[in-house]
This record gives sequence, structure tokens and C-alpha cells, in this order.
Amino acid sequence: MNKGSTLLITFDGLRRDRANADLMPNLARFMEEGSNFINSRSIFPSETRVAVTSTMTGCPPGGHGVVANQFIHAVRPEGLFRTSEWEDLELAAQAGQLLDRETMGQRLAKAGRSMAVVSTATKGASRMMNSSAHALGQPVFSMHGVPVSSPDLHEAVLAQLGPIPDAGAPNGARMDYATSALIEVVYPRHQPDFCVFWMNEPDTSSHRFGITAPETERAQRITDDNFGRILDWWRAGNGPENIVVMSDHGQITGSRQLETLDIIPAAFGRAAIGAFSSIYLDDRSDEGKARVVDWLVQQDFCGLVFATAENGAAIEGALPWAAVRNDHKRGADVGFTLRASDSSENWGPDIDACLFAAWITPGGGMHGGLNRGELSTVLAAQGPAYRAGFVSETPCWLPDIAPTILTSMGLPLDGTEGRALVEALVGEDPRFGVAPAVETRTLQASHRGHQHYLRQWVIEGKTIVDCGWTGGTGAWTP
Ligand SMILES: [Zn+2]
Repeated sequence: MNKGSTLLITFDGLRRDRANADLMPNLARFMEEGSNFINSRSIFPSETRVAVTSTMTGCPPGGHGVVANQFIHAVRPEGLFRTSEWEDLELAAQAGQLLDRETMGQRLAKAGRSMAVVSTATKGASRMMNSSAHALGQPVFSMHGVPVSSPDLHEAVLAQLGPIPDAGAPNGARMDYATSALIEVVYPRHQPDFCVFWMNEPDTSSHRFGITAPETERAQRITDDNFGRILDWWRAGNGPENIVVMSDHGQITGSRQLETLDIIPAAFGRAAIGAFSSIYLDDRSDEGKARVVDWLVQQDFCGLVFATAENGAAIEGALPWAAVRNDHKRGADVGFTLRASDSSENWGPDIDACLFAAWITPGGGMHGGLNRGELSTVLAAQGPAYRAGFVSETPCWLPDIAPTILTSMGLPLDGTEGRALVEALVGEDPRFGVAPAVETRTLQASHRGHQHYLRQWVIEGKTIVDCGWTGGTGAWTP
């Protein structure tokens, strides 16, 4: 392995305020002893495949083009483009319309370095961890087998560890198996310069049982036990130089369900409805967009609304897509979040709540919107590249992770839109150890009494989304 070799470990769906010493003692100690980024954020929409892609390209969705977990895409003219599905991603990749930015896999291949993926996530999320892994000959092990996994690595893991256990909630058997695959097969066999290890808990249990449910707490303990196994192995001198841990988003409580998914008049165009919803209009003129925004803000399900005019300004009553860094040609004409609680001043696992569209039952966890409980993530790092015992208050988000790791490896960042978190890095470079200036601002839009607010941080001219909320006639009512 080369300088800066890094293992990136993800706890899917872990809110920062649930990563405490009681439930996750190994993680809590790791954060305390390493560089701990206490103001880390996800991206918008705060959905897994968007988050994975933003992490692996070092760009927000407005750069890479995976604009939502499901959206309307030219390669699926009849239905929804579902990023959870291998077939949909393959269709887009063959059409050259999957990703507009280089991935970590491609960057490392160009630099003659290696990358591996070990994932318990969906087929689609696992694909987006290294979207061209097979073409580049970079190994992937997924619970879903071939074609997500590399055939020879898959065979090697099964030969050594036996059959893959069934999925469960909590998904403990698979977490244990994946950890064994990582430290007993993938590292000894491939010694990757960069390795992604993705645990789909506590996300799965949190969706199903609720954020603070005993089953979800058990899922957190299981992931933390496996993290402890990895740390023991690492501290014994195995594996990479550095370990970075992250979560891709948090969750808030889905307290009330839409009565139907059929909430957008067909006359407007085609819609994809979820925690984040998008509408691809038949009439894409500014007037057409304004008509839809005017209708949306009068609906009691509607949270924040996004729409950009021809000249780049916001449509009246909406915020521009650029404000959430999701302005992309494959993006929707008008998008909106479902209504959620105001997390600008008060938030917490027992407070944050939202309306939800589908997939869970009331009381289950949800994500995709702009509540602080969804956007606030875990990010911490240890190893020779990172400062020890360092609490970084400088805001950061998922697109900053790839530039930081590339910098620790001495590789170029061209084409990334995130920022290398140099304040946490150790080395000769005069930028290292110095925190940049941070400006905070709040954008507002109001129409027919429906108020939107979006708080942003601006660092070196680039914006990071802190959180968003609604007020006035758009206020959340439990
Ligand atoms: Zn996720």
C-alpha cells in the first residue's frame, strides 16, 4: 500500500446525536481521539445513493448528476429511474448519462493505486461506491453477489467464510460476515490503497422500528462491535494507514403518511414522490414553473420548494436549485420536500418529525429532506495523516471527503467541488492545520404566506447546506 492508504467506514443512517458513548463506545472513543468534525453534513436530497455518489466523486448532485434516489431519466422513458436497481444504472452508464464526474475508483486507477469495496448496501448503492469498478479491475464484494460483486473475489469470500447469511433487521449476521470478509479476505488478498466498507445499519432498523427503538439501539451496538473488531485488527498493525468513519445521512421520525402518492395533477407533467419529490413539467417555461410553485405552496403536504428560472434566479415562492447545490440538467423543473418539523433552533431524535410518502409505518425513521436530524452526520478520522484529539468546528459535508483523502495521498483534486479538510491534516504543507474562515447566511422565500428558510455556510466561496425549514402557512403541525 502507498502513502495515505485509507479505509472509509460508513454507518448508514446514523444521526450524529445518536453516536454516543453508551450505544457506540468504540465509535465515540475513535471520534474523541482522532479528528472529529462536529459540524459535518450530508447533501440534498439526503438519500443514500445521492450521498454515496457525492462522497465518491467529491461533488454535490449538481456536479455528478445522480440528483435523487429515484427520478425521471431519459433511459427510462416510461417509468421511474431507480438508482437502487443495477439494470437502471447499467442502462444510464451505457448511454454515458450516469455520472458527469470522475469517481475515486477512476482517480486511483489513473494514479496506479488500488481500490476495493465491501458492502452490505443495496445493489445500486454498492454500484455507486465504485461505478466502473469492473471495467477498472477493482474488486467489489457485495451481499448481492454477481454482477455487483467481482466474480473471483465473491468466490474467494464464500470459499473462506461459507455462505452469506440471510438479511435481517437488525442485520447483525451480515455485519459480522462483511467484517470478516474485509479483514480476513479483502485486505490480505488485495491490500487496497483505498477501501470502502459500508454497513447498512442502523439505517435498516431505524426505518423499520424507529430512531430510538430497542432494535435500532441493538443495530447500533452491532455495528459498533464490528467497528471495534476492525480497530483491534488495525491497531495490531494490519490494513491501511488511516481510517475515516462517516455516516451518509441521519433519520427523523415519519409520524404521518400521505393518504396517496397521487398528489401531483397529471396535467403538470411527470412526478417522482418521496421524502424529496420532483416534477418534470410538460410546460418548462418560467410561467409554467411559477404556476406549479403557486399551487404547491397552497398544499398542506408541501415543505421547501425549489425551482430556477431561465435566467438562473429563483421562481417566485421557491428557492433556486443552486442554493442546495442540486442544479443539474437531469434534475427536476420543480422539487419539494414533504413538510417536516422546524429544526433551526430545536432538534433531537425525539423531536424531529415529518410527513412521509411510503416504505415505512408511522413512527419509523425517514430521510431525504433538509431537517438537521437528516443532514447532521458523523465524520471522524485517525491515522498518521490526521490530527489527534482535534475537534473541528469548521462545517463540512460529504463532497469534502474525497478531496481530503486524495490530499492525504498526495493526489490531484481537479474536478472535485468539495474542499480538502486541511485543518485536520498533518504534514509539511503550509495549508495543513489551518482552519478557513466561515460565513453563515440564511436564504428566504415567501409566497401566499408559505415561508421557506435555508441556512448555508460559505467557505472559500463554496456553499454547504446546514438545514432548511418552513414557517407561516407552511409551518409543521404535528
Ligand atoms: Zn443511507
